[in-house]
Amino acid sequence: PAPAESILEVRGLTRRFGGLVANHDLSFSVQAGQILAVIGPNGAGKSTLFNQLSCVDTPTAGQIFFRGRTVNGRSARDMAAAGLARTFQHVKLLPTMSVLENAAIGAHLRGGKGVFSSILRLDRREEAQLLKEAETQLVRVGLGAHLHAEAGSLALGQQRVLEIARALCADPCLLLLDEPAAGLRLKEKENLADLLSKLRAEGIAVVLVEHDMDFVMGLADRVMVMDFGEKIAEGLPEQVQANPLVLEAYLGG
Ligand code: ADP
Ligand code: MG
Repeated sequence: PAPAESILEVRGLTRRFGGLVANHDLSFSVQAGQILAVIGPNGAGKSTLFNQLSCVDTPTAGQIFFRGRTVNGRSARDMAAAGLARTFQHVKLLPTMSVLENAAIGAHLRGGKGVFSSILRLDRREEAQLLKEAETQLVRVGLGAHLHAEAGSLALGQQRVLEIARALCADPCLLLLDEPAAGLRLKEKENLADLLSKLRAEGIAVVLVEHDMDFVMGLADRVMVMDFGEKIAEGLPEQVQANPLVLEAYLGG
């Protein structure tokens, strides 16, 4: 069994698609209140890894433990209900719905129900509860002044923060973020980094996939570097940055 203090423990994780090895023998762990950044060139296997961690896809081999229990046989919905929340590489908000409504969808997912039942099958009291929880989370992330704006009218940086608020509504202990800083302005990146630092201080574990080296180096506790499905380096940001294998993978050696 996994050590009790690990939120996430991965052992020998492998995912093959036919002859292609998208993840090869990956092992790592993440503790509460820790930010792990996963970096690597396009096609390195980062999104595939997230799909295994969130049980959207099933590994070919290896084991994943979430909060000390194997995730074998669990669905993505089970994982959400158990405290794993994720955002996606491309923002998926409902642009004409309000900020508050977009966040409230996340509050319903923790109950183990899908998005559609969340929209279609709520009585008024349930709905009021979800909206209240959503408002609390929006205030927590600094979007309290925008509750009734259309989600699509927010700046890109605010939309990313809204996605995180939606994830927080499910009361997660582990957040998986796929390229949260992509396309953001410097000021928006700083704002996002501050928010993630605050969540870390509150004990949430974060695994983020990111291309932006500067963003990662200033924020992550540990960095794992992937190339062609393999882990080629792992360590403190400054160690990884100085690793010749990493420079080679990034500079196309
Ligand atoms: P990254 O997110 O690091 O850019 P991905 O995890 O998306 O990389 O992809 C890793 C490799 O696995 C790529 O070569 C990609 O084409 C392949 N791959 C990903 N998903 C599938 C799939 N469902 N079927 C076949 N090949 C896939
Ligand atoms: Mg990807």
